[in-house]
Amino acid sequence: MSPIVRKKIIVRGVVQGVGFRPYIYKLAAAHSVYGWVKNDSAGVTIEAEGPGSVIGAFIRDIELKKPAVSRVDSVSVSVLPPLGEKVFLISRSGGSAPAAAIIPADISICPDCLRELLDPGNRRFLYPFINCTNCGPRFTIVKRLPYDRPFTTMSPFKMCPACKAEYEDPLDRRFHAQPNACPVCGPSLHVRARGKILHGPAALEFAADLILKGGIAALQSLGGFHLACRADNAAAIARLRRLKNRPHKPFAVMLSGIKEAGVFCRISKPEKEELSSRRAPVLMLVKKNKELESAAPGLARVGVMLAYTPLHAALFELLRRRGCGAPLVMTSGNRRDEPIAKSPEEAGRALAGFADAFVFHDRPIHSRADDSVAFISKGETRLVRRARGFVPEAVKLKGNFSVSALGCGADLKNTFCLTRSGEAFLSQHIGDLGEKLNQDFYQETLAKMKTLLDLKPGVIAYDLHPAYVSRAMALGFKGRKVPVQHHAAHILSVAAERGIETPFIGAAFDGTGYGVDGRIWGGEFLVFEGKTWRRAGHLKYFRLPGGEAAVHEIWRGAFSLLSTALGPEFVRMAPNIFKNASDKNLATLQRMMTLGLNSPETSSIGRLFDAFGCLAGLRESVTYEGQAPMELESFFKKPRKDFYPFSLARENGLLIMDPSKAVLGALADFGKARLVSERFHCGLAAAAVKMLKTICSETRISAVCLSGGVFQNRTLLELVVEGLEQEGLKVFSNSLVPANDGGISLGQAWYALKGFGLKAEG
Ligand code: ZN
Ligand code: ZN
Ligand code: FE
Repeated sequence: MSPIVRKKIIVRGVVQGVGFRPYIYKLAAAHSVYGWVKNDSAGVTIEAEGPGSVIGAFIRDIELKKPAVSRVDSVSVSVLPPLGEKVFLISRSGGSAPAAAIIPADISICPDCLRELLDPGNRRFLYPFINCTNCGPRFTIVKRLPYDRPFTTMSPFKMCPACKAEYEDPLDRRFHAQPNACPVCGPSLHVRARGKILHGPAALEFAADLILKGGIAALQSLGGFHLACRADNAAAIARLRRLKNRPHKPFAVMLSGIKEAGVFCRISKPEKEELSSRRAPVLMLVKKNKELESAAPGLARVGVMLAYTPLHAALFELLRRRGCGAPLVMTSGNRRDEPIAKSPEEAGRALAGFADAFVFHDRPIHSRADDSVAFISKGETRLVRRARGFVPEAVKLKGNFSVSALGCGADLKNTFCLTRSGEAFLSQHIGDLGEKLNQDFYQETLAKMKTLLDLKPGVIAYDLHPAYVSRAMALGFKGRKVPVQHHAAHILSVAAERGIETPFIGAAFDGTGYGVDGRIWGGEFLVFEGKTWRRAGHLKYFRLPGGEAAVHEIWRGAFSLLSTALGPEFVRMAPNIFKNASDKNLATLQRMMTLGLNSPETSSIGRLFDAFGCLAGLRESVTYEGQAPMELESFFKKPRKDFYPFSLARENGLLIMDPSKAVLGALADFGKARLVSERFHCGLAAAAVKMLKTICSETRISAVCLSGGVFQNRTLLELVVEGLEQEGLKVFSNSLVPANDGGISLGQAWYALKGFGLKAEG
């Protein structure tokens, strides 16, 4: 037998709140190893004593057999003198090592808890707060590290003897499950409706009855309130749309399980895996039939999630018993553009008049988090909104950096990003910073994240846009300031998450970003070499008569493109196309453009998409961002060879992509939505590939990064990726962070960490 040794083992990664200590306890028992394990701010620390060969096997197994929801980033081992211990203990948490532990993200209800929840013989039957070490709230209830009950919003609840016994039994599924609770000792549910308050099971029954009959309930979920109603009740949805002032924008729906979701949507294997994962995001799925039409009008896809908390699961169970198997609309409980309400008081203020009943509880939400939204392309999950289930887990960076960077993000779909050594921590989706309440949410979240991560950023990266609130806030923070161009940040978000070093070419297609020439960029081809970047080409500038107004009135952009393609003569035939504009109106617009009055120039592919949505005959104005492009994509069935041509030209050393011929093609096909959709998608993809191929061969660079909100269009993304791969180029796109402005903060931070700068002219 090998001699007795004692080793100190520090495990870093997602190791708290995921049943890691009980796992180590059992592993130690299996190997007959003595010593102790504890959580501290470094992660999990173990001292293990036993014969050298046994300790070796024990350490090897730590990573090999780790719990499915944990993530081990490093295991460091040092030697200690043996103490002759004969027990293995789980010690209390403590320690003041530098904060390196990572709070786990919230975890959707696990199969074991779901079984107990639905078992009439179980003491937690239909108890909406059932959880265990494998599931339940984490990030949304943690106030500070280490992740232990006293530092969560569960601290006021004193465990009853039965719960305490589970909590203290190393072989129990609830051993050290911090939010452990039951109907006797834990949080309880309440409902307030028409001046009445009901408690516990009666509250849940009331909510189920209300929803069954077509009512709207405000529901305190995991990261904030939802507004819930039947998705098969057109009248209920119409009312919700009126109240939320959202005439068309799609609502996410929730189903009780994967089988139920399969009734309404087509689900591929990777989609099934992601839907039923512990993250349980809203996933964009192809509708099978018309039943979810009111939830997502005019779109081929609808956002679907599975019941991810015991509260949702219990509600579905009560509906099932009432003979109702309907999907439920489950949309964020907020006023338009405001943060999701997290406390009953906030919900009462923001949602009064929206809901027929308020279903709430007394386990406070410390950090609000919206539902995450994703789609799957090429077998990979692509986040559209990164929040619950993903935050605050880190994005791994290539390399370690002694300085910590803060990327302040963009003003729309805002997130910020803090880096620590080789990791980037993005905030949950914060939203539109034009809204005061979102600015407060930003500041409050930034303060919390700095505390949790125990860091002070030394460098502050922000968007160039002179009117951005995020820029103004950035300039108020302490640290070295680094301005970053919007589309350079988009491209670097891909490089950062994929660990790609320069040189590479970027194609950034999006709605709006401030360019270094003061124009509105959005169809950009950028070259990154060494530590510099430069613009190599772009979509030809076109004017947006009316500026901001053109974002909603998409016919204005179409008018501008047609006028450029056909000449000012066009104004005479235009009234046949634009139903909502008078002749006088059109003539004024033409004059504005000629004189350059309130008609900013843009190279935005987002606006180009809007214009083609208009030329396809879909609509002349939109009620939410991306409406026309999403509807246009919904008409796409298959690629075609007779796509619209774009011409490429060189102007002042830049490669210019001119859409005029494509615009004329669409004019000839006006109103034929599927034809315009297919010819446009394929034409734009072919033009992008040709631009990139040209720039790649001129620069002898063979790697391409694609980003920007337009690449949430799965059809375009796949056409461009396939086209580039056929040319032998290596293509990278976003997965862990959104391609839209929600991923900008990571790119900004990466720009600052790597010391990028704009290449000097000449
Ligand atoms: Zn569980
Ligand atoms: Zn209890
Ligand atoms: Fe953008």
